[in-house]
Amino acid sequence: MEHKLTIYNTLTRTKQIFKPLNEPYVGMYVCGPTVYGDGHLGHARPAITFDILYRFLTHLGYKVRYVRNITDVGHLEHDADEGEDKIAKKARLEQKEPMEVVQYYLNRYHSAMERLGVLPPSIEPHASGHIIEQIDFVKKILDAGYAYESEGSIYFDVKKYNNDHRYGKLSGRNIEDLLETTRELDGQSEKHCALDFALWKKAQPEHIMRWPSPWSDGFPGWHMECSAMGTKYLGEEFDIHGGGMDLIFPHHECEIAQSTAALGKETVHYWMHNNMITINGQKMGKSLGNFITLDEFFTGSHKLLTQAYAPMTIRFFILQAHYRSTVDFSNEALIAAEKGFARLCESYARLQKLTPSKETSMEMKNYRQLCEEAMLDDLNTPIVISHLYDATRIINTVADGKATISEADLKELKEVFDLYLIDILGMRVEENTGAANDAYKGAVDLLLEIRKQAKTNKDWATSDKIRDELARLGFKVKDTKDGFEWSL
Ligand code: ZN
Repeated sequence: MEHKLTIYNTLTRTKQIFKPLNEPYVGMYVCGPTVYGDGHLGHARPAITFDILYRFLTHLGYKVRYVRNITDVGHLEHDADEGEDKIAKKARLEQKEPMEVVQYYLNRYHSAMERLGVLPPSIEPHASGHIIEQIDFVKKILDAGYAYESEGSIYFDVKKYNNDHRYGKLSGRNIEDLLETTRELDGQSEKHCALDFALWKKAQPEHIMRWPSPWSDGFPGWHMECSAMGTKYLGEEFDIHGGGMDLIFPHHECEIAQSTAALGKETVHYWMHNNMITINGQKMGKSLGNFITLDEFFTGSHKLLTQAYAPMTIRFFILQAHYRSTVDFSNEALIAAEKGFARLCESYARLQKLTPSKETSMEMKNYRQLCEEAMLDDLNTPIVISHLYDATRIINTVADGKATISEADLKELKEVFDLYLIDILGMRVEENTGAANDAYKGAVDLLLEIRKQAKTNKDWATSDKIRDELARLGFKVKDTKDGFEWSL
């Protein structure tokens, strides 16, 4: 590729020029959700961030194999090696099969992602469908001497690994500090060291999600699935591994240790992490009462929300920030995003109706190049959006009859909006421009035609009534030299 995409690599803490192992093919693995509840904002951000990367890499000409997993086993209550499996717990409480719980929430997750404009990945493997691969991976780590068996469970030997490699390189932690802040083992533990983590857990009698293994009837540790499935579908070495920043430690740190221990080399070339979302400045959490699901955003049914927010408003809001910055959700900020996106949609609709003249009478920047440069610079979507806003000045000035645009410039502007706003940022404009709903558009047009007629007939009562009622419903009507224009 002649393009130079630079991305920030969490592992080296530098921006690096992206060079895939096997051009034009790119392997990309992103940690997907644990499906035991409805998707929330914390799920939306990585999905949207890596959707943008997927779309942009594809635009640059790469053939991307995008793997996003589904965690349906092994994610325990305390995110450590203890507690009930989250999915099994939900199944017990709802008197369902665990896979019934998984399917129910997975269907809902897919529907929310579709509404957010997130393209489906190339492969969506389930942890529970890859138990054999995970057992094989554990065997490799045991054979390499970096794991031990204890009471039917297998644990990763962090100290031994750290002697030969460095545990903590991704998160920047070191083992001495970690040992100081970790609770001492009480002597009852199966582990040799508090930092060791489970690769395979022996199931307690009441544990229903269990599979046979050489060591016990049990289930894999949470971190194992991504090492096993990533290398299965993308090879022992692959290009990009992504996820939320909250996964850097311990999840991704443990994945690096597992893969290095089993394969004797680094699996991932570029680690990418999106920053987190806060709500009114606070971390999201069930106990804080600010845990808002995506469906609650779409319907406005949570008590913290003053209105419903369209999925495209949420997507636009997330893209207005660089993926490595924090994003703070508030009603004010969301309403501003809603308005901002509506303005872009309005200009997009006006752009489709512009008629070209002999020449362009305004300064027209090379928006295609500016947008591309912003995306090549570590996916700087807020800058892309600012260039699109800048271009709307031209569209609106021409539409208002105060400037002209040449045929070539008009074609270029249309292409830039279609490419960047729709294909790369993945925004659906039709919901805002009304193109998807011709009947509704037609009805408003008809009302305004009647109003125009009424004005010609000096029937001011009818004309005012239509204008006032439309205004009350939120329509903005503008009289122009050719008739009228309206927006919602
Ligand atoms: Zn993962």
